[in-house]
Amino acid sequence: MARLPFISTLSRLLFPETCAVCGRPLTRGEEAVCNACLQELPFTGIPFTSDNAVARRLQALAPVEKATALMWYGKDRPSAKVIRLLKYGNRPRIGRALARHLAPYLEDDPPDLVIPVPLHPRKLRARGYNQLEEFGRVLAGRLGSTYADDLLVKFRHTPSQTRHGPWERWKNVAGTFKINNAGRLCGRKVLIVDDVLTTGATLGAAASVIREACPSARIYAAVMAFNYF
Ligand SMILES: [Zn+2]
Repeated sequence: MARLPFISTLSRLLFPETCAVCGRPLTRGEEAVCNACLQELPFTGIPFTSDNAVARRLQALAPVEKATALMWYGKDRPSAKVIRLLKYGNRPRIGRALARHLAPYLEDDPPDLVIPVPLHPRKLRARGYNQLEEFGRVLAGRLGSTYADDLLVKFRHTPSQTRHGPWERWKNVAGTFKINNAGRLCGRKVLIVDDVLTTGATLGAAASVIREACPSARIYAAVMAFNYF
């Protein structure tokens, strides 16, 4: 049920939303991150092309045509703080703000479908939301694309893989995704979205599964942050 507008205004007055970086209450017109911290976010400006660092990392693993990333990722950078709060701090609205900043990167070649990397249902239950949902929905809305979170599903839990190298991660994750309704992917431009791109194993596995289900799909990728190494 939609909340009554005065209740949401009231709750905003009593519990103002705070900046995801510095923690100060946000003022009117600011979303998720205050204007001062926005200036400090490490936006990449990487154009959405087939020949950039993000695309090349993915192309080593999977048939991804074009890719981009909104921010550079680094443990001590504000981008990490923003994404940590989005994932673990019950702040799904941060995804909305990031999508608004990312949309201009993609508007020259908008996809037909925006597909989030799925969470395993168990993880989804534990967190209560998929951190990519608001991000993917707003991005799709801005680009005139369809948000489709029912086509790519995760059916096997992947053990935590932060300590593994790219090939172990790839082996771990390959075979954990499957496609529902491959017909909807055929001949379409499919944008896969994820939060942080490090080795590319997760996104690469998702791209491979889509390509296998439908060779005529054109696969794009966009992430909130790119861990360049
Ligand atoms: Zn701030």
